[in-house]
Formats: sequence, structure tokens, C-alpha cells
Amino acid sequence: MNDITKLTIAESLVGLKNKQFSATDLTKAYLQAMENNRSLNAYVLETPEEALKQAGEADKHYASGTNRALEGIPLGIKDLFCTKDIRTTACSHILDNFVPQYESTVTANLFNDGAVCLGKLNLDEFAMGSSTETSFFGATINPWQRERNLVPGGSSGGSSAAVAANICAAATGTDTGGSIRQPSAFCGVTGIKPTYGRCSRYGVIAFASSLDQPGPIAKDVRDCAILLKSMAGYDAKDSTSINKEVPDFAAVLGQSVKGLKVGVPAEYRPEGLNAEISGYWDKGIEILRQAGAEIVNISLPHTKYALPTYYIIAPAEVSSNLARYDGVRYGLRVDGNSLDEMYINTRSAGFGKEVKRRIMIGTYVLSAGYYDAYYRKAQKIRRLIRNDFLEAFKLCDVILTPTTPTAAFPIGDKSMQENPINMWLNDVFTVSVNLAGLPGMSLPIGLSKDGLPLGLQLIGRAFDEETIFKTAAVLEKEAKFERLK
Ligand code: GLN
Repeated sequence: MNDITKLTIAESLVGLKNKQFSATDLTKAYLQAMENNRSLNAYVLETPEEALKQAGEADKHYASGTNRALEGIPLGIKDLFCTKDIRTTACSHILDNFVPQYESTVTANLFNDGAVCLGKLNLDEFAMGSSTETSFFGATINPWQRERNLVPGGSSGGSSAAVAANICAAATGTDTGGSIRQPSAFCGVTGIKPTYGRCSRYGVIAFASSLDQPGPIAKDVRDCAILLKSMAGYDAKDSTSINKEVPDFAAVLGQSVKGLKVGVPAEYRPEGLNAEISGYWDKGIEILRQAGAEIVNISLPHTKYALPTYYIIAPAEVSSNLARYDGVRYGLRVDGNSLDEMYINTRSAGFGKEVKRRIMIGTYVLSAGYYDAYYRKAQKIRRLIRNDFLEAFKLCDVILTPTTPTAAFPIGDKSMQENPINMWLNDVFTVSVNLAGLPGMSLPIGLSKDGLPLGLQLIGRAFDEETIFKTAAVLEKEAKFERLK
């Protein structure tokens, strides 16, 4: 076997079982690849000792025939997941040197299934962003056309870049408004945001609790199915976790989509939509039609309110969730002459610009004089957006849209830096899914004329990730997208 880092999880599991290579071989190959790709700035912490120890354990499990579902599979972990005894920062200065005493449920599930931890991956500070540029550790570089210095998307940009560059077999991500799907699209990999409540948020550093959801970013659809099975499940430690059986998502791959009703929302094709993206969307529609699916035109009339609604609700939750970083309990502390001054000094030095912007907006919309005008109204529109989907799902089984309005853009792009709204527009196709609590996947469909990956999004009914997986497998097979090798 030449370069085993290019294998998918499914292929690696076969190689491990057949003793073509050991878990230690596989981990060493990834550690070497990580070293060779440090210029991408995908990892903010490498944990080689831990990884080799876990790989050694995995090899023992293979030797004794007690190998578990992900035995010996080397993963990168977004640095928003608390990992016991391993530094966790949310890529914020305010969490400097924070070492959690506990493990997030999702990472615990993965490691209990035998996965190996290669290290912690870069993200936008507290997952607020669409480019990984707000990270305290600096931006990650998209592995596609490295010389162009493009963003990998965000906030899970370290994860999507690492998966695309084959410096982990797969990675964890989190998605509050698109942070799994948008970076997956920008890096030509596959990621799914599960239904809200499918994966536990316990131990995932909170951004906007009613929207946050962990999920996998992987090399292909099957790997996402394998990982989600392991990550998901009821957790008493998260009061919004849902007690529902977790299906074997991989079992539906290869099933026919004959008769499946695929919804195409008119509102996602605004005038001026990028022609290439629109063209690939049509290609996706055609693939599914050819495979026997029925294409249904649907309407999601409140789509135009999704971004403003998201950018009221998410900051409101930020304002309350981030109040805990006061210099007393976690991370950074900058002393002052009084308690108040210490708070002010710590928070002024610890938070970056985007996080401060969100705390200010959030505090404003929650303040007594503005609560009704902004926050309460946003909550009402959130319900209307959810109702749009419930109505649409009376007519169709799954919805197909583009993932993003553009391909990856350059790091430092002026229009994004000077006007935050332009950055926020990246999420125009993804945020509704979080507001409605539904599952959504992004998978690569092809390359733009200048050779950058573009993605399509599939949205399903609550707890019907299976239909998404089944449909995605058909699109993936026909799209024949070539990953970076
Ligand atoms: N880009 C969006 C934001 O900045 C979504 C981020 C996310 O999903 N974590 O809020």
C-alpha cells in the first residue's frame, strides 16, 4: 500500500482487518502527513504521543479480535470539543491554556469506538465566522490551489482543510449556521449537520445553544454515515438530546431513489445567483431525475428573513453563553484595580473583534427596551421558517439546494473584511436549516471553471438523515468528484 492517508475510513477498516497495515502504521502515516502540511495551519495542537498510545491499543484489539467500529481510525478534533487533559481553546485567547477535566460526549463516543486522536483543529473564534480567519491562531489555508491562499471556509475550516489534505481520516465539526456544510463545500469534502438533538452538545463549547449541533466532516458519504452512527445517541447530560434510536446510516447507501420526491425551493435561486453554482444545482437535479426521483418545485417563503433572524438569535445566545468568561474560572485573566476592571481588562484582551461584535449585538437585542422589537420578533420568524419546511415536507421527502453562493475566496478578502454582512452572506443557504433544527448535508458536486470545489446541500425531515444519505450516495456516484490526492 502506497499512501494509506489517502484511504477512506471504510477502506482503512478493511486494510486494518486484513492486516495490510497496523493501526500504528496508519497513525504514523498521518502524523508524517501532518508534519509535511504544517503550513496549512489546520491543527492548533498535535497530540502524537496520545495518538500512538491509542493506536497501540487499537492494534491489541485487532490482535485479540475485539476491534470496535472505528478501531485505529485517526481523527482530527475541532478545538471546540472539550478533550480531557488535552488543551481546548475554541481558538480564543480567552481560553488560553484551558485544559478540560472532562471529555465531550461526542468525542468520548468516537474514542470508545476505537478512534485515535491526532490533535485539535483550527476554527473561527468560538465558531463565529465563515472563513477560519477569526481564529486567535491565525487562518487555515485551503489545500486546494495552496498558492492562492484561499480560505477553507468556517467555522470548521481546520476540519475541512485537514480532511481534504488527508492529514486526518476524518474530523469532527460543529454547525450553528453552516459551519460543517460551508467549509465542506469550500474544501471538496462531505459533512453533515444532524438533526438538532441527534448528537449531544455536552462538552462542546457553547456558541448558540439552540442552534449548535456537532457532526462529522469526512472524505465521502459513507464515512460520514459511519462516523455519525458512532457520534450520535441520547445523552442524559444534554437536556436537548433526543432519546431516539440511532439507525445504521450506512445501510441505506446504494438504495434506489425511485419515486423519492426531491424538493427544489424557488427562493434559493435568487436573481444574480452565480451561474456555475446554478448550473451544478441543475446537474444535481438531473442526476436525481435520471435515477427515478420525482422533482417537485417548492417554496420556502420566509427564506429572505433567515439571515437577519439568525443574526439576532445567535448573538443573543452568545451574549449569555459567553458571560461565563470573566477571568475567574477559565483561561486568561488580566488583573485590574477592582473586580469590574479585571472583568473589563480580561474580556477586552481575551475576545477578538467578531466575538465582541456579536456580544454587543446580542446584549442589545436582549436589553429591556429592544427585546420585543428584535429578539421576540426573531423567535416568531424562526417559527415561520420552521413552518415553511414542515409545509414543504408535505410535498417532498428531501430538499436539494446549493451549499454556498460562491466558491472559496482569498484570505483577507477586502469586501469580507470591510463589511461583515458580506461574510455573513456565506450562510444564506445554510442558516434556515439550523433555525428549523433539521439535518443538512453538503457534498461536492464539481469544480468551478478555475478549479475550486462547489457543493450541493441536501436537507431532510427531522431525524430522517437516512433519506439524506440515500440521496447523497446517488449524487456522489454520478458526480464522480475527485478528492485531492
Ligand atoms: N458562519 C456562521 C456564523 O458566523 C455560522 C457559524 C457556525 O455555524 N458555527 O455564525
